[in-house]
Amino acid sequence: HIKQQGRNAIHFFDSSVNQQAQQHQQLNDGLRCALTNGELFLQYQPRFDIEGQRILGAEALLRWQHPEQGLVPPFTFITLAEESGMILKLGAWALQQACTDALEWNRQSPYPIPVSVNLSPRQLRDPELIPDICDALRISGLPAELLELEITESVVIEDINRILGTLHELRDIGISLSIDDFGTGYSSLAYLKKLPVNTLKIDRSFVIDLPGNTDDECLIEAIITMAHSLRFKVVAEGIETQAQQAVLKKLGCDELQGFLMARPGSAAELINLAHSCDTDSDALSQILIRR
Ligand code: C2E
Ligand code: MG
Ligand code: MG
Ligand code: MG
Repeated sequence: HIKQQGRNAIHFFDSSVNQQAQQHQQLNDGLRCALTNGELFLQYQPRFDIEGQRILGAEALLRWQHPEQGLVPPFTFITLAEESGMILKLGAWALQQACTDALEWNRQSPYPIPVSVNLSPRQLRDPELIPDICDALRISGLPAELLELEITESVVIEDINRILGTLHELRDIGISLSIDDFGTGYSSLAYLKKLPVNTLKIDRSFVIDLPGNTDDECLIEAIITMAHSLRFKVVAEGIETQAQQAVLKKLGCDELQGFLMARPGSAAELINLAHSCDTDSDALSQILIRR
């Protein structure tokens, strides 16, 4: 009887693994056509000053509108694309599209709004990355100063020797670099200081239990203090409540991104938002000085 149960268990396991593999295969096949079928698009989520009043940048977030499955979460398809290598094509497309959109919104916006594009680990190791970026800038006409790139902390730790040259090249072109999901990867700030990076984005997981979680609060405070002494700018992501905003302001965080201020939306929505939080010329010169 036990043996039988064991068999069933194995059988059950097999079929669910199979099902998952099949689903992955389907998504992979779909993803290959998604680009040519126009199923991919970008949304933009603005980043704000600590008061939540001025837009200081906008992050491009990739979306896949699957014809049958609807909107597929980026976590699912980006992981798959990373495994299959498709991310190189998707990433190049996202760079080009983001630069084109950003040039257009900077034509219409009352003040400059840089675009941030996420880079996957695989893109960072790809020799075509720098040519792809130069193409995107040249074809769009976007000045390099209005492009920022986000790389995750784990990549930096695992592959530093391999990507250090690339990071310096990007900085030499005039592009700003951020470390994304900071705090999840156990890297030391002193070590990050050796990188040509301007900004740390504190991961949402540290923000989610604020206020009330004193451990998280202490961690954020320590990160901000050290980051500032090393001349990094600090952005907190995933701000959903005014109480969270208040804690981050108290702790000296520089910039905020989250549903409280704005959800990801279209480039048109970003332009509208930029007009509704128009800055005076003083604020504009502040932004230009900081960049
Ligand atoms: P990320 O770069 O850390 O992007 C921030 C994520 O947090 C986005 O999720 C955004 O929608 C979400 N978010 C922002 N504010 C809030 C908030 O207040 N509450 C909550 N619950 N979530 C918030 P999204 O768009 O699902 O993207 C997930 C991840 O997928 C991104 O994390 C990034 O790692 C990756 N990703 C997205 N687009 C691209 C891309 O073009 N290329 C690459 N390589 N990765 C991308
Ligand atoms: Mg990001
Ligand atoms: Mg992030
Ligand atoms: Mg994150």
